[in-house]
Amino acid sequence: MNRLHETKVKKINSEHNTIVNSKDLTLGEGYFTVIAGPCAVEREDIAVETAIAVEKAGAKIFRSSLFKPRTSPYTYQGYGLEGIEILRRIKQETNLLLETEILSSDHIEELSQEVDIFRVGSRNMDNYELLKAVGRENKPVILKRNMSATLEEFLLAAEYILSVGNENVILCERGIRTFETYTRNTLDILAIPALKELTHLPVIVDPSHSTGKSSLVPAASKAALAAGADGLIVEVHPNPANSYSDGHQSLQISEFEKMMKEIFELAKVLGKKFDIPILT
Ligand code: PEP
Ligand code: MN
Repeated sequence: MNRLHETKVKKINSEHNTIVNSKDLTLGEGYFTVIAGPCAVEREDIAVETAIAVEKAGAKIFRSSLFKPRTSPYTYQGYGLEGIEILRRIKQETNLLLETEILSSDHIEELSQEVDIFRVGSRNMDNYELLKAVGRENKPVILKRNMSATLEEFLLAAEYILSVGNENVILCERGIRTFETYTRNTLDILAIPALKELTHLPVIVDPSHSTGKSSLVPAASKAALAAGADGLIVEVHPNPANSYSDGHQSLQISEFEKMMKEIFELAKVLGKKFDIPILT
């Protein structure tokens, strides 16, 4: 197998497949796990409505972004730590695990009490101090590929988290920058099997930020599953047109339900375990 050079990576070359376990969740080889929720937590009623709906449709983890890395400093920056109350409410109303993006190590301690999984976004893939700080927490970490990172750079960033003793890293392909402008990014579909050749870590795909268009999200999601991905992180909003951020790429709840049924059928064909409670 074509592994990365030994002197650069020490942990990532392991031959076994890492299965990430968190509470009753199993993520990795053989399973297909869906993370879903709005781009950002905006309002309690919207967040709770979305959480209940995505859980019913088969998602296991709620996308609970409280801090948003936005290109413009004048657009919605997220609810911040005050949104923790909303996350607690979602815990009461559902059995979903919570994942959230960490933008600053200042927030790790507080958010650690509330969420099950941390996410490091593409803009912070190269923020090595943040990677080490997040890695020191005893929680799985979703690491998103920087939009211009090679697979080697991506894996070396993951190695920072592993090097401080945290082996529960979930790699996320979220599209790379190319000359194409029709899509927000270009989903690097072959990154999925390539990463599977190079590492034992689970690989998930973000069909929302990679396409930038809700109409393309189902195709990207099914392609990701067929290419061997272990899961998805998808943006869903009850009323995308009124979303504070990324409404154009967010699925409506009915669209998400439809996509989940299709994914379930495909997962069955591919022999993946996919525990959806309601499928009619
Ligand atoms: C996100 O998932 O909220 C996000 C900002 O995506 P990315 O880091 O991939 O740009
Ligand atoms: Mn978004």
